[in-house]
Amino acid sequence: MNGKTVMACIDAAYASLKEHTDEIALLDQQIGDGDHIFNLLRGMEALLAVRTEIESEAFGPALDLAASKVLSTVGGSSGPLFYSLLSGMSKATADNAMDVGGFARFFSAGVDAVSQRGKTGVGSKTMMDVLIPVARRFDELAAVGASARMILDALPPVAEENMLATRDMLATKGRASFLGERSRGHIDPGARSSQIMIAAVCARLAQNRA
Ligand code: ADP
Ligand code: MG
Repeated sequence: MNGKTVMACIDAAYASLKEHTDEIALLDQQIGDGDHIFNLLRGMEALLAVRTEIESEAFGPALDLAASKVLSTVGGSSGPLFYSLLSGMSKATADNAMDVGGFARFFSAGVDAVSQRGKTGVGSKTMMDVLIPVARRFDELAAVGASARMILDALPPVAEENMLATRDMLATKGRASFLGERSRGHIDPGARSSQIMIAAVCARLAQNRA
């Protein structure tokens, strides 16, 4: 795991988000202002533009570089939130090993940072409804000694199930909360984009372990 791996994950996440542009745009038109996917794609394109720099770094500094690029290019609520995810993960690399248990802690630390930044846990119909259950399952699997391959197979279904569950939730955070009861019946765009990125990154990392 190094800057090259980070960049391979960014490439995979970008390709999958691109494929789902229209779908995510529609979700944010239904319960937000329609910009979510475009905010994300702008951020990812800024990361692609500094590919050489990211690829030449070690894992932690590569995440930190990506975090600062995301902060300066992604608008909306999601810019500072994805910054917190990447920078929270990067900071956790200082005191954890680069093994399965360490990666579970990096991810949890990133998700905790998002939760603090957005002052949101589960149940508010946001990306946290995907990120938190995935981080928890990752921790649980790492604690029982699951292999990387088992974890990469197990997390995407957790993300998907929890993304789908946002459909019936009442939004109590972010722009969608302005709709009150009318927010029900639509999947949260941030939950969908997070789930898509998790699926793409897990599939990409699983290729290295096939
Ligand atoms: P904006 O709502 O400012 O237009 P985006 O469209 O980029 O920003 O992002 C919207 C997504 O951000 C929502 O779908 C939701 O998942 C997520 N979100 C909004 N507020 C929060 C929050 N406080 N904590 C976590 N995620 C949030
Ligand atoms: Mg929006």
